[in-house]
Amino acid sequence: MKYYSLNKQSPDVDFKEATIKGQAPDKGLYFPESIPVQEKAFFENIAQYSNEEIAFRLIQPYVAGTIADAALQGIVKETINFPIPLVPVNDRISSLELFHGPTLAFKDVGARFMSRCLGHFAHDRSEKVVVLVATSGDTGGAVAHGFYDVPGVEVVILYPSGKVSSVQEKQLTTLGKNIHALEVTGTFDDCQQMVKQAFVDEELTKKIFLTSANSINVARWLPQQFYYVLAWKQWTDKKNPPVISVPSGNFGNICAGLLAYCSGLPVKHFIAACNANAVVPSYLANGDYQPKKAIATISNAMDVGNPSNFVRILELFHHKLGDLRKVLTGYSISDDETKAVLKEVYQQYKYLPDPHGAVGYLALQRYLQQHADDKGMFLETAHPVKFYDVVEPVIGEAVPVPAAIQDQLKLTKQSTVIAPDYNALKETLLKKY
Ligand SMILES: *Cc1c(COP(=O)(O)O)cnc(C)c1O
Repeated sequence: MKYYSLNKQSPDVDFKEATIKGQAPDKGLYFPESIPVQEKAFFENIAQYSNEEIAFRLIQPYVAGTIADAALQGIVKETINFPIPLVPVNDRISSLELFHGPTLAFKDVGARFMSRCLGHFAHDRSEKVVVLVATSGDTGGAVAHGFYDVPGVEVVILYPSGKVSSVQEKQLTTLGKNIHALEVTGTFDDCQQMVKQAFVDEELTKKIFLTSANSINVARWLPQQFYYVLAWKQWTDKKNPPVISVPSGNFGNICAGLLAYCSGLPVKHFIAACNANAVVPSYLANGDYQPKKAIATISNAMDVGNPSNFVRILELFHHKLGDLRKVLTGYSISDDETKAVLKEVYQQYKYLPDPHGAVGYLALQRYLQQHADDKGMFLETAHPVKFYDVVEPVIGEAVPVPAAIQDQLKLTKQSTVIAPDYNALKETLLKKY
């Protein structure tokens, strides 16, 4: 499989180069030259396959030629070695729980797959690889844990100071060893901008072998397809495929879902469930794409004003808004609505979503109100304990803290504070490496 840059000004590359480079030299995102279509029988008989077989079959065409099948099977196995259950909340809505990985959020799958691919590729290089990543919350922890102690790989994480939850901050600042946290006194968009600038700074990239671990990296983006097909395996009413609501920020996760759909996965409709950062829902409604500054909300992992992966969705639908609208509807949910629905779902159904899942739930509920014959699922993208600061006052109860997190909370934060300014990042990197 070859990958081309969406800016069309760089040479095509294979999976290995796309993973190592992260972003194309022309600043475009890499995109596969063709979308593999799976046989109908694969989806019809999905229950016969193990989770590892499903994941391998989905990812193999994208990786073929750069990692041998046997090694890829090993990587896939380690990537999804935790449960991804579909849990009924009421008779029309289920929750696909993506938070059973080591950092209790869905980004574990992408981070684990990418770190293992990069580790595999780093074998044949003598240089140290520096993974540079911006996080709005959960990416940092997932990347930190995914790459922790991987030989030959250093990790630098930029996060917006005071804008991530305390559990998220602990997960990305306490590991030490090859993991370094930069606390930026700005927004996530500032962090993302600084990272993007580093990759196109030739003076810097000549001295340091940089790669990205953001959701723009194909090795993080592509394995997220697994969730959707594993959800289909658990969906009982195969004659009536699900509406799938995806809490979205940078639009990597939902873009992977749409990719699985283009490969033949039965899905009735997709919902882009957003908080007050409503660039995509507005675009779907009125055709006007207006990136904005990020607005801080209680579902902070979705506080993105200029979602990087949305161009991939446009490419997938050949830039035809009419076609995209047939498959995708957007909703913007306010913080007050998020809190109200979180409380309601907990009291009525004894199911406790996190704020991101609550946004997904309410967006789905709104869609289903207009589509009486449909049923659906929302992606529960994080465990509620990661956002206990928000959840506890809403339900008036303590969220039980899993043992793994209790230990993390006791560790001491180690971070370097820097200004939201590219030169501050450059200086820090040059001093360190
Ligand atoms: C990252 C994240 C999202 C948004 O996912 P995107 O792929 O950026 O759209 C939603 N919920 C949680 C908990 C996240 O960590």
